[in-house]
Amino acid sequence: MATKAKFQAIKGTRDLLPPETELWNRVETTACEVFRTFGFGEIRPPIFEPTELFRRAVGGETDIVSKEMYTIEDKPGGPPDPSDSLSLRPEATASVCRAYIEHNMQQWPAPVKLYYRGPMFRRERPQKGRYRQFYQIGAEVLGGSDRPGIDAEVIEMVMTFFERLELPGVELEINSIGHSAANCRRGYVEKLRAALLEVQDRLGADSQRRILTNPLRVLDSKLDDEQAIIATLPKIGDGLCDECKAHYAELKRQLDLRGVAFRENWRLVRGLDYYMRTTFEITARGLGSQNAVCGGGRYDGLVELLGGPPTKGIGFAIGEDRLILSLLEAKKETAREESPAAGRSDVYVAWMGKGSEPAAIRAARKLREAGLRVELPAAEQKFGKALGQADKLGARFALILGEDELESGRWTLKNLQDGTQEKVSEGAVVEFLRDRVAGNRWSRETRDR
Ligand code: AMP
Repeated sequence: MATKAKFQAIKGTRDLLPPETELWNRVETTACEVFRTFGFGEIRPPIFEPTELFRRAVGGETDIVSKEMYTIEDKPGGPPDPSDSLSLRPEATASVCRAYIEHNMQQWPAPVKLYYRGPMFRRERPQKGRYRQFYQIGAEVLGGSDRPGIDAEVIEMVMTFFERLELPGVELEINSIGHSAANCRRGYVEKLRAALLEVQDRLGADSQRRILTNPLRVLDSKLDDEQAIIATLPKIGDGLCDECKAHYAELKRQLDLRGVAFRENWRLVRGLDYYMRTTFEITARGLGSQNAVCGGGRYDGLVELLGGPPTKGIGFAIGEDRLILSLLEAKKETAREESPAAGRSDVYVAWMGKGSEPAAIRAARKLREAGLRVELPAAEQKFGKALGQADKLGARFALILGEDELESGRWTLKNLQDGTQEKVSEGAVVEFLRDRVAGNRWSRETRDR
């Protein structure tokens, strides 16, 4: 008989499973809490958009748009319409700007502060920390001014979030890439191109190609052979106009005021015209070569490019997969338990004898209402088997309900960590367990610190 082919998650995608998903939830909840304190509200844009939106916002010549998007034709053969070609979003800034325009958010109190979380899709070569479906948590500030205090506050917000999570080895790098005018970035790019042409024979094929298409991207090169050459190239900071220089100096002062430590990296660039001035990147420990957990920058021209009014904008995107990897790597998290079920439950309701089933169901409901994690076996079990099962699930207590307990109204609570046993009157069971389990969680969390 032919064996049936087993299905597997598609290359570059994966299932996130418990207990790790608990950590994902905690990370996202923490982001929501921290971002709220900075005045951000959540936006949930659709997962697919017209391909044209990304072509314009991210740039048709970028790898992301030219090679990595998952695109479908919605109405093949029908009359041509720009929204016929749809793409799974490779990032969310384009959607947020589209929504800003679509909902006339320029009429909302400025600046508009929005954050998002969710899956993004890029057909990249999968490796540790790089997937084809990956998750980002990001935020954008739209409208308002381009004062460096806003840039600094956005960076402070990410750093506060990482601090709250105790993310290990966090390092922030900043740069300014000026603005597109001839007396600023455009002038610098010409100088850079001329310098690159002089050394082009010593550069790899990718960099050689970029001298003409996008010389700033040569600065991104990770090739060992090119590092010494790049170090000798003209620096963008030297070519900035006075206004951009002042903006950058003020950004640094604002970060100092907030006690945010940073390192300057003149090679931190973005290749697209509408990016301007502030760029930043944050790395964390335990991630190997894919160690960037957050990238961000100012993009004052983007909303206008998408057909909206001139609008200041700055934002960032955090790679949630990498963030989680780094947290797990640091073993700070209890999520990496020995078995998938370990730590799943607080109380195991071991009922014995048909007569005790209704009381067991009622008890489970009350305990769950009190926020406890309760396991209620669907069938009667022998005492030994019930305790074994409770142990496997990591329950702290077994609530034992048999005929004796029903008759006397005093239920048996077995502490599975130290083996002690107590009788507690039926009415006091919920409070007893809530106190013990909460106390237990507390002592475990403080011990782990
Ligand atoms: P970007 O949108 O390219 O600026 O990326 C922002 C952040 O998203 C990066 O710093 C990474 O942490 C994360 N990221 C980007 N691409 C991927 C990917 N293919 N897999 C996992 N994380 C990614």
